[in-house]
This record gives sequence, C-alpha cells and structure tokens, in this order.
Amino acid sequence: MKFKDLSRRGFISAVTTTTVATAFSSVMPAIGKTGNAGELAILGGTPVRTKAWPKWPAMIADEKLMESVIKTTKSGIWSRIQSPTGTVATFEKEYARLMGTQLCIGTGSGTQALATSVEAMDFGPGDEVITSPYSDFGTVSAILTSRALPVLADLDRDSFQLDPDEVEKKINKNTKAIIPVHIMGMPCNMERIMAIAKKHNLKVIEDACQANFARYQGKQLGTIGDLGCFSFQASKQISCGEGGAIIGNDPELMDRCFTVQNHGTNRKGFNVTIGPKYRMNEFEGAVLMGQIAGAKERFERRNANAAYLDSKLKDFPGLMPQKKYPGTESSGYYKYAMSYRKEHFNNADRSKFLKAVAAEGINLSPYIARGFHVEPWVDEIISLREYQAMYSASRLKRYKEEMKMPNCDLVCNEEMVVLEGVASLLGTTQDMDDVVNAIMKVYENRARL
Ligand SMILES: *Cc1c(COP(=O)(O)O)cnc(C)c1O
Repeated sequence: MKFKDLSRRGFISAVTTTTVATAFSSVMPAIGKTGNAGELAILGGTPVRTKAWPKWPAMIADEKLMESVIKTTKSGIWSRIQSPTGTVATFEKEYARLMGTQLCIGTGSGTQALATSVEAMDFGPGDEVITSPYSDFGTVSAILTSRALPVLADLDRDSFQLDPDEVEKKINKNTKAIIPVHIMGMPCNMERIMAIAKKHNLKVIEDACQANFARYQGKQLGTIGDLGCFSFQASKQISCGEGGAIIGNDPELMDRCFTVQNHGTNRKGFNVTIGPKYRMNEFEGAVLMGQIAGAKERFERRNANAAYLDSKLKDFPGLMPQKKYPGTESSGYYKYAMSYRKEHFNNADRSKFLKAVAAEGINLSPYIARGFHVEPWVDEIISLREYQAMYSASRLKRYKEEMKMPNCDLVCNEEMVVLEGVASLLGTTQDMDDVVNAIMKVYENRARL
C-alpha cells in the first residue's frame, strides 16, 4: 500500500484524506486515522516510540515546591501543633475550598484517613463494612484496624467499580457502612450506592484516594457520602510522599475525626477517647502547598488527553475504555483503564499483547494482580482470636464461602490494561497518538502475536 512508506508520524498527519480513512473504516471505524507501517518491534521492527515518559512526582519538584520546604525547615514549625497557621492548617483550608466542602483534616496517609473515618463513626468489633475487592489494600486495612469485618462485593466487569446489586446482597443486620472506591479516579455508581445506603440506614465513606477534583452529577467526589478520603502518596495526583485527608461538612463528625487522628486528644486538649497518632506533619504540608496551585490545571489536562484517547478507542472492540456511569463529568485519571478483549486479538493472552505494546515503547500494565478475596489476610483474620470472639463461627464460615468474585477475577487475570495516568496523561497529543498507534499496530498484527 502506498502509505506504507510514510513514517508513523507522517501517516497521522496525512490521514485527513478520506481515501485512507475509508480504507480502514470497515475494520476499525474510529481508528481509521492510525496506520500500520512495518514489523512489530517485538519481532525486530522499529518501535512506535523511543522517547521516555515523564516521571512522577519528580516532574513537579520545581523551585516553588523546594522553596516551600526550605521555608518550613527554617521556620522551626515542624509539627502542626506548634502553630494554628502552619502549612498543614493552611493546606486543610485550601484543600477544603478546592474540593468544595466545609472542612478538611490532614492525615499521614490515605489509609489513615480511611481508618480515622471508620473509628470516628464508632464502627468496630461486630460491625460489617462493605467495600471493593479491587483497590489499594489500605481500604481494607482501614476497616481491619478497627476490628470491623471488611465484606467484599463483586465488581461490574466494565466499570471495575463495586456493582450496587452485589453490595445490596451483602447487607445484613450488622452492616454499618459502605466504602465505595472511585477506582482509577472515575466515579462509581454513587446514585445507586447512596440510595442503598439510605434504604438500609448505612453510612458512606468515599474512598476518593485516586479521585481529587473528579465530578459526578454536579458534585465533587468525596462530598457525596458522609465523609470523603484522599491520598497524597507519591503515586497520587497531589503528592507529598505519604499523606492523606478527610473532607466533610458535618462539624461534629469532623471534630471526632480530628480527635481520633490526634491520639484521642480533642481540639481543646482533653484526652477523650481511643485514637492512634495519624497527624500530617508540616513538611508534608509544605510539599503540598508548593504544588497545589497547578493541581487543577493538571487535572484538566489529564481529562482532555483521556477524552482524546476515548475518541480514538470509541468503536474499537479490542480495548474498551472504563465504563462511565450517567452523570460522570470527569475523572481523576489516576490510571486510564481499558478492558482487553482477547477475542478481538486473535485470542492472544493479555500478557502477549502487553509485551508487544511495551516493545513499541508504550508501557501499559495489568495494574492490580489479585482481588483482595484471594489474598492471605482472609484466612488470617478468621483464625484470629479477636475475630473469633466477635463474630459467630457460622458468620466466619459464610464469610469465607462468599469470597467469590468472578468479575474481579476476570478483570485481574485477563482484562485490565492501564496506562499510568498521573504523569503520562499530562503529555502532548502526539504522546497520546503514540499510545493509540502502538495499540493499533499490535492489533493489525494480531495474527503474529
Ligand atoms: C492510594 C490509595 C489508598 C491508600 O492511600 P495511602 O496514602 O497509600 O495510604 C486507598 N485507596 C485507594 C483507592 C488508593 O488508591
């Protein structure tokens, strides 16, 4: 074919001609704009891309951020209790404003934010909290820390989010709360989850650790449930190495959160209850304050690039972008996630596809290796004296039996493919074209995988 001689880049700019577009349209309707020049890199051909991808969080370590840390170092205010106007208190105010909520409390991690929320709501031994088998283990860890029972419900295969029908099946008289996880930063089906919570009188703690700024039905994620939790761990869109925050509008509940994360000491200085010490320190606050100004713009850039990828993959059956529920306005795009359907790739396993794409210079990954229902903690906790004391033998037996999540297994073992989103989605349109071209090059050569 004539366009075989064009370089990939040249091909992209040349494809506005209808002849080329229609040449591919019968095979790949929305992706007729990409070419297929040459041999797969994995078979010795030229890779689509050799340029490196930006590295996170190093790419945001600019002068402003360094200055902010140096200023804190010199000030001698290193703990939040030394000053009511230090970096942590300042960040809490600024983050609450950005998230569209009244109140915010910084913590040492997203896991700590979640654990503080569970403890502040007084959930503990004997109580059950429903959450997703597909998340960071911090979500489950936060429930276990209070010795409540983390009950898992299966996913929707296409959104990778908690399936509300599965959630409802897991509710019993001991269920106290739901922790929906906005996985990849994409909103889960909050309309259904809030309706289920209302019907059964349950609290909702949103795990929005991947989702800052994302919007759903006119609201920001983290502001829909009773509390919202965020993470500022190194891989997250706003990061200080390790850090987290709780947001909420109920002053009494937020006061209890403050007390819990302050080792049980309230704002007036009285030692009133059980609580670990989960305080964010002033250096973490300084790193966060040093980067917050550009955070919204970076969020918007990620969404623009993701929309571009969506448009390219729209009618491509081999990789389906993460399903969005009605009312989804934006995502945090911690990852750009897709569902790999091998039947469209000549039945090549995902690992073969990923290797071929990696050789083209594009790093896609399977993300989470296993759902939490198949990890060793399940057998561990049901054998623990404290869990055996607080939950009946029949409950623990059924708990183990119900750890079956076929959709989560499918997602983990065969279908999930993610493009790292935090740094990669800040790239140029050309970077996004590289991603699409690599996918399409492998697709067109699928018989050779
Ligand atoms: C990162 C993350 C957590 C835990 O946050 P840490 O700050 O790492 O403790 C919890 N849930 C989800 C969905 C996350 O991505």
